[in-house]
Amino acid sequence: MFKKNSPATHPKHERTLVLIKPDAIQRSLVGEIIRRYERAGLKLVALKMFVPTKEQIEQHYTLDPHWRRVTGEKTIKSYLDRGLEPPVKDPLDVTRILLERLTRYMTSGPILAAVWQGAHAVAIVRKLTGGTEPLTSDVGTIRGDFVLDSYQMTDRDGRSIRNLVHASGSIAEAEQEIAHWFSPTELINYRLVAEQILYDVNMDGIFE
Ligand code: GDP
Ligand code: MG
Repeated sequence: MFKKNSPATHPKHERTLVLIKPDAIQRSLVGEIIRRYERAGLKLVALKMFVPTKEQIEQHYTLDPHWRRVTGEKTIKSYLDRGLEPPVKDPLDVTRILLERLTRYMTSGPILAAVWQGAHAVAIVRKLTGGTEPLTSDVGTIRGDFVLDSYQMTDRDGRSIRNLVHASGSIAEAEQEIAHWFSPTELINYRLVAEQILYDVNMDGIFE
């Protein structure tokens, strides 16, 4: 027989953080974006709208102590892959410039922060969101369907990529990011009737 895990570790409890960025609000895409996560079966357990501070954005991107190095190296590689010379050689200098541009972008207007819960919430939200650069994000994803930005344009204009949403990249990242943007009392524990159909072993309760 297969061993049953404890109910507390069921994947349906997984949570992820989504930020709906200033460009998405300006382009009236809030409803469309929320709809896409909602209709996949995920449960919205927290939502708020505010104008973030520079400090909050900097902290958000540097919660992972390796983020500066990893993102710097990744960005240098993306220059080299495109046959371009990176503007600076040191990965940490690259990240310093990126972070300046990110804070300028993310504090340019109101944003929404949301926490979504459900089976494989992190991976499902990343899949629906699409790859970082809208030029190459898959069709059918939020970034692939609703925006047209590219690193070619952002490099030329010295700004951040406008890709409408942020979504946590891993379960560990999600836990840190949720704690950064929300206090525990802001996360609502409640049942959604649809969860009975998504998760119940026998889908009982349909017949009267
Ligand atoms: P995400 O998780 O898909 O949002 O992307 P990352 O966490 O990898 O990157 C965070 C942010 O860093 C992105 O939204 C971009 O603004 C920036 N960034 C990441 N990779 C690159 C890159 O290769 N080139 C440039 N110019 N910016 C990048
Ligand atoms: Mg990321």
